[in-house]
Amino acid sequence: MNILVLNCGSSSIKFAVYGMDDSSRLIWGQIEAPGTARGRFSAQTADEQFAFDVASSSYSAAIQTICAFLDKHRFGPGSIEAIGHRVVHAGEHYSESVIINDDVIAAIKACCSLAPLHNPINLKGILQSMAHYPGITQVAVFDTAFHQSIPKPAFMYAIPTWLYEQQGIRRYGFHGTSHRYVAQEAAALLRKPLDQLDLITAHLGNGCSATAVKKGESVDTSMGLTPLDGLVMGTRSGSVDPGLHAFLADTLDWDVEKTTTILNTESGLLGLSGTSQDMRELTRAAEAGDQDAALAIEVFCYRLARELCALAMPLGRLDALVFTGGIGENSRLVRAKTLGHLGLLGLHINPQANDQNGRSTGGRISDQSEPVALVIPTNEELLIATDALRLKRQLEHFPG
Ligand code: ADP
Repeated sequence: MNILVLNCGSSSIKFAVYGMDDSSRLIWGQIEAPGTARGRFSAQTADEQFAFDVASSSYSAAIQTICAFLDKHRFGPGSIEAIGHRVVHAGEHYSESVIINDDVIAAIKACCSLAPLHNPINLKGILQSMAHYPGITQVAVFDTAFHQSIPKPAFMYAIPTWLYEQQGIRRYGFHGTSHRYVAQEAAALLRKPLDQLDLITAHLGNGCSATAVKKGESVDTSMGLTPLDGLVMGTRSGSVDPGLHAFLADTLDWDVEKTTTILNTESGLLGLSGTSQDMRELTRAAEAGDQDAALAIEVFCYRLARELCALAMPLGRLDALVFTGGIGENSRLVRAKTLGHLGLLGLHINPQANDQNGRSTGGRISDQSEPVALVIPTNEELLIATDALRLKRQLEHFPG
């Protein structure tokens, strides 16, 4: 029961094969800078490591390199039961993972305008993998799907309604696989059914978003039409005044593309600090007296706490706040500063537990019994593999 997971992004293609008897990762790796002359392949198993340069002529050629590598290491078409693909945008087409057929491919294509940097390359991964693994069940797991339960008053922007009806402009939300995974894990840690819990999940990696999860369903989230909205991120600004594009056009003569590029790639922690998007480096710099790095961290935590308070509103009550992603799982400083702003929600930090990333307290880093603050490592790949296996089994039992 081996499941291959493919995550085709613009700056890397990640892959992993899971043995689903015990949910263990058998082989995993990535190509960085795929489809360029500077491509770099790396992979590992429990006891071997592989790395080589791979100058591929195209993105598809880079995917072929991964397939050829897997063939050579006993994970060719004969030993893979199903393949799970991370796909960023499903618009309003799908609220859960689906087996890929012509309709699904058409829906992913239809959403390319909503995610021009992601959906076209996700599609390349799917088509290439269908060619290399013919007849094997392929499943799409969408970033947006988990958020399709968000009610209309929460997803509508206050702009003319025809822009929603004709152009699909609304809040969609992203990182859905991570929010869904850590919500399930939180229920397991708290030993309560997910449908009895009210949670806020904060995914803090290079991209950052937070979600209100009411009884297992997303009811609001910080990202919007695009993954630029909401929290301060590594290089992304998060929410800014919607008048900013016009203001910069008037004052600096910047066009839409220039402002959009600055907001996506030169803002966030990098823009505020002027030196780094990496929370580890910023923490070290702030400790060494760098005032800009210190301010970047303060703004990050303030804006995060403000968003978390806003997300508590649709819940009405709170069982747990979950920190995940590279920053959420590892940055004691960010969690301490953020929780320091959240007394209003009844959250108070346990400094010793926080210093240990919640390792010896079952993930708990708060003092009080309710609500609790938890640190839970995310594992989107495993959830993609689990969905792929579940849908493959369903297909076997209910063909057609
Ligand atoms: P991605 O969104 O690309 O998957 P990650 O989830 O790996 O990114 O998160 C990357 C972020 O996590 C970076 O800002 C990095 O500095 C931060 N991070 C990783 N480890 C630590 C740590 N020990 N302390 C503080 N921040 C960390």
